[in-house]
Amino acid sequence: MNVLLVEDEPNVISLIQRGLNGSGHQVSVAMDGNSGLTMALGHSFDVIILDLMLPGRNGMELCTEFRKTNQTTPILMLTALSSTENIVSGLDSGADDYMTKPFKLSELEARLRTLLRRKALNISANNGDSILRVADLELNQNSKTVKRDAKPITLTATEFRLLEYLLRNRNKVLTRMEILENVWDIDFNLGTNVVDVYVNYLRKKINTGSSKKLIHTVFGMGYMIKESNEDTE
Ligand code: CA
Repeated sequence: MNVLLVEDEPNVISLIQRGLNGSGHQVSVAMDGNSGLTMALGHSFDVIILDLMLPGRNGMELCTEFRKTNQTTPILMLTALSSTENIVSGLDSGADDYMTKPFKLSELEARLRTLLRRKALNISANNGDSILRVADLELNQNSKTVKRDAKPITLTATEFRLLEYLLRNRNKVLTRMEILENVWDIDFNLGTNVVDVYVNYLRKKINTGSSKKLIHTVFGMGYMIKESNEDTE
């Protein structure tokens, strides 16, 4: 695969470069955020490995800017910071996964494979039915747009994936762990409260201007999206 590595630490660069080259992958390197963004936008990479703390534009800013024109290339964010808050803002800026330094090369490679597999799954899903619906809420998997009562709703990349997962499993109770694994696809300790936080963001956005509740909390179990006559809280 063709990898873009945006990283300013020579040690990390040579570790990743040696490792991935050894497995037969091409690695292009940018050592600051601005040239990283230019390269990311100017070429087609299979995956982008993005450091958070960078000279010039930081990883989060690069990610937000890149996602305005490209929503599909997987991004793995690297950082020395590991608090939930940083992880959440990294994922919210449009990264698909997150790894804290120091890490093992084998883990990095495993995560890259997972990202590529997920991208392939999304592409094949997009060749089938592209509209998911519940009541007057509609999600288009091809154009990545959401409407309620024909009015567009703007979601972040993570909110979109969350809604997509709920809609694919409509009328089914999903536990916080299931949501975490399927929407974030990460197995480290992010904590399931991130699910509650995002369900609340999403609820607020899809409830704007509508009175009927769609995302239901199933006490002690998790969440479910379904059509109902219950009013929004
Ligand atoms: Ca750095």
